[in-house]
Amino acid sequence: MKNFKHFNAKTIENTVSLLREYGSDAKVITGGVDIVGLLKNRVIEPKALINIKTIPGLNYISENGNTLRIGALTPISAIEFSSRIADKYSILAEAAHGVASPQLRNMSSVSGNLCQSNRCWYYRRGPDTGLTFFCRLKGGKRCYAADGDNRYHGVINADKCHAVCPSDMATALVAMNASARIVGSAGERTMTLEQMYSSLPLGRLLETDEIITEIIVPKLKENTRQRFLKFAIRKTIDFAIVSVAAVSNVENNTIADTNIVLGGVAPAPFRAALAEDMLRAQPITPELVDKASLAALSKAKPLSKNAYKLPIIRALIKRAIM
Ligand SMILES: Cc1cc2nc3c(=O)[nH]c(=O)nc-3n(C[C@H](O)[C@H](O)[C@H](O)COP(=O)(O)OP(=O)(O)OC[C@H]3O[C@@H](n4cnc5c(N)ncnc54)[C@H](O)[C@@H]3O)c2cc1C
Repeated sequence: MKNFKHFNAKTIENTVSLLREYGSDAKVITGGVDIVGLLKNRVIEPKALINIKTIPGLNYISENGNTLRIGALTPISAIEFSSRIADKYSILAEAAHGVASPQLRNMSSVSGNLCQSNRCWYYRRGPDTGLTFFCRLKGGKRCYAADGDNRYHGVINADKCHAVCPSDMATALVAMNASARIVGSAGERTMTLEQMYSSLPLGRLLETDEIITEIIVPKLKENTRQRFLKFAIRKTIDFAIVSVAAVSNVENNTIADTNIVLGGVAPAPFRAALAEDMLRAQPITPELVDKASLAALSKAKPLSKNAYKLPIIRALIKRAIM
């Protein structure tokens, strides 16, 4: 690892001022579960690392006017075990439970989980292995997964870079229309997570002087059904091959409205809008749900080794909706 300066931030303002001072040479760290691996593999070499776990008051789960608020430093395990979340926002508990392992869920913050880097093995490979790839994500000219070993890469919206968003919390929170409260030099702003991820794969989630301080989840309507399903090769400590988050408002066996979001398939959580349209205002039948699962894949362009993801996506959508 290259040397870097380490700061224990005392306040959000202190963090923003350090981020402004160091610009793109600074990174914030929460649990370190993702970023330490990137540092060791020299994928990133910041001059300053700003620990924000030392900022008080950013670890909470609360409801305010029926809006769920989750502080940026809240551990994934706290979301997994919160009775408030289990009662009303169970999809978040399901997603949290599927993240990594109990120890990693204790270490990881919700903001770190949302901002974690992708897991592409070309991108993350360190020089110690004797082989590194200067891929497009690092400013190079090509994506090595395009004609390489792409079995875990994207099948939808994969174009310039085929890495997928690895965050299970992102998939579930996008399906819940959640937003992030973001603070930077220019002040405070709120952005939906769907918007935040739209800059991926090659853009930045946030400006270099910004941090997430809170996740805001709007109140769910009555008669909301929610489900997060994940398929991974191992039962624990494994990223999603494919995941599906579905949040549906159901009245008399008819879907009044639904959000269906797919994980593990695209650079950002993918909103299966065509499937949503097909299901909206229709009685739920196995035939319709089957058609909708096919519509969800209408933009899919699998690579040489990952077409196997498509039937898994269809199966998970059908299970989540039915
Ligand atoms: C073996 C293994 C298996 C895993 N399996 C899964 C899985 O199945 N599903 C899943 O979803 N995740 C999984 N993860 C991810 C893991 O659980 C963590 O959530 C993730 O690695 C980062 O969390 P962290 O708090 O440690 O973030 P850090 O490593 O500290 O930070 C990660 C990134 O987020 C940025 N960041 C953190 N907080 C903020 C903030 N408030 N504002 C702006 N930027 C911020 C940091 O700068 C950094 O770029 C796995 C990780 C490992 C190592």
